[in-house]
Amino acid sequence: MIDFSVPENIAADLAWADDFVREHVAPLDATFADENVIYDKTHPVHEGYLRPLQQQVKDRGLWATHLSPELGGQGYGQVRLALLNEILGRSLFAPSVFGCQAPDSGNIEILAGFGTPEQQDRFLTPLLDGRISSAFAMTEPQGGADPSLFTTTAVPDGDEWVINGEKWFISSASHAAFFILMAITDPDVPVHRGASMFLVPGDTLGIEIVRRSGMGIEAHGEGNHPYVRFTDVRLPADALMGEAGAGFTIAQERLAGGRLHHAMRTVGALGRCLDMMVERAANRTTRGRSLADNPITRQKIAEAWVELTQFRLQVLHAAWTMDRHGAAGARTEIAGVKVATPGVYQRAVLRTMHLHGALGVSNEMPLVRMLISSVALGVADGPTEVHQATIARALLRDAHDPERHWPSEHLPTRRDAARHLFTSIEGI
Ligand SMILES: Cc1cc2nc3c(=O)[nH]c(=O)nc-3n(C[C@H](O)[C@H](O)[C@H](O)COP(=O)(O)OP(=O)(O)OC[C@H]3O[C@@H](n4cnc5c(N)ncnc54)[C@H](O)[C@@H]3O)c2cc1C
Repeated sequence: MIDFSVPENIAADLAWADDFVREHVAPLDATFADENVIYDKTHPVHEGYLRPLQQQVKDRGLWATHLSPELGGQGYGQVRLALLNEILGRSLFAPSVFGCQAPDSGNIEILAGFGTPEQQDRFLTPLLDGRISSAFAMTEPQGGADPSLFTTTAVPDGDEWVINGEKWFISSASHAAFFILMAITDPDVPVHRGASMFLVPGDTLGIEIVRRSGMGIEAHGEGNHPYVRFTDVRLPADALMGEAGAGFTIAQERLAGGRLHHAMRTVGALGRCLDMMVERAANRTTRGRSLADNPITRQKIAEAWVELTQFRLQVLHAAWTMDRHGAAGARTEIAGVKVATPGVYQRAVLRTMHLHGALGVSNEMPLVRMLISSVALGVADGPTEVHQATIARALLRDAHDPERHWPSEHLPTRRDAARHLFTSIEGI
C-alpha cells in the first residue's frame, strides 16, 4: 500500500540537514551569490569554510548520497534523495556542501563506469572528494536541442584522437579540471549512433575559452557557462569513454538522473517561495489591514500550496518509478517532471515577487535569480517541447488501430455492443 511516512532514522537525518543548511550553508548564499565561487576550488572560501562543512556532512553520512557505496556514497534510492534534495534546493551552495553538485555528480558516474584506472586516479578521486570541478560539453553554438547539427569531430590519427569544434554554454568550463565531451566519430551514420564521449583534461593544448558567457544575472565576461573552442586537441586512444558511437547512451543515463534531481531541488525552491509569501502576508499592512486578511492574497497563498503539493507528489512518484524500473523505465515520468518544473517554478516566483512589491523585483531579494533559474530549467538538459514529445510518443505508441472507424467512446457503437447484455431483461 502507499505509505507517506518517513522512517525515523531518515527523518532525523533530514531534520539535521535542514538545520545545517539554514544555519551554516545559507550564509554562503547571502555572501557569495556567484556560481563561479562554487566551482572555483581555489577560492579561499573553499579551504576556509566549505571543507569543514563538507567534513561535517561526511561525518553525518550524508556526503554524495546519490552515489553507490563503492564510490563513497550512501546508495540512497531516488525517493530518499528526493527528500534530501528538497532541502538542498533551498540553497545555491548546499549541493556543493553535500557532494552532489551538477555537473560533477553525473560526471562522476561516467568516469567511474568508463574511465581507465589512471584516469580515475587523476580525476575521479579528487572529484569525489570535492577538490576539483569538471564540465560536460555537449551543446554547440548552432544547435543544442537538435544533435544532428553537432559538428565537433574526433578523428583517429595514429594512436591518438584529434578533436576540433566548438561547445556553447558549458557550465563551469573555466574551472574544470577535465571535460566529458561529445564528438562525432562516425559522420556516415545518424548522430545517435555516430557520436562518442571523450575525457579531455582541462590543461590539454588547443582548448580555448572564447567567452565567459553566462546567465542574465552574471556580469559580462564573468559568466559561469562559457563558449569553448577545441582546436586540434590531441588525446590518447584511451580518452574514448565506452564504445565508439555510444555517446548518446552514456549521455542519456547521466541526463535522466540530473533532470530528476533538478526537479527535486525545485520542490525546495517552491517551499522557499511559499515561506516568503506567508511571511510577507503576515507582516505587511495595507490600508489598515494585514495583507494576510486580504481574500486575494489568501487565494494566492492557497494556490501556491496546492501547486507545490501536486508537483512534490509528481516528483516523488517519478523518483519511485526510477527506483523500481531504472532510468529507462521511468522515461515518461522523468519527462513529465522536466516539463512541469519550469512552469510551476515560474508561477511560484512571480506570485512571490508580486506580493513583495518593489522589493520583489529588487536586487535585495533572491527572486530575480530564482526567476532566471526557472526559465533556464525549461531549456537546460533539453527544452520543454522535446520532453513533451517524449511523453506524447509514449502515450501514442500503442494507440493506432487500423480496424477502428469510430472512437471507442462513440455512444451508438457502445450501445450496439452493450445491447446483448440487456436483451434478456424484461421491460428494456
Ligand atoms: C543554465 C544552463 C546550463 C547549461 N549547461 C550546459 C552544460 O554544462 N553543457 C552543455 O552541453 N550544455 C549546457 N546547456 C545548454 C543546454 O543543454 C541547451 O541550451 C539546450 O539543449 C537547448 O539548446 P539551445 O540552447 O541550442 O536551444 P535550441 O535548440 O535552439 O532551442 C531553442 C528553442 O527552440 C524550440 N525547440 C527546439 N527544439 C524543438 C523541438 N524538437 N520541438 C519543438 N520546439 C523546439 C524550443 O522552444 C527551444 O527552447 C546549459 C543551458 C543552460 C540554460
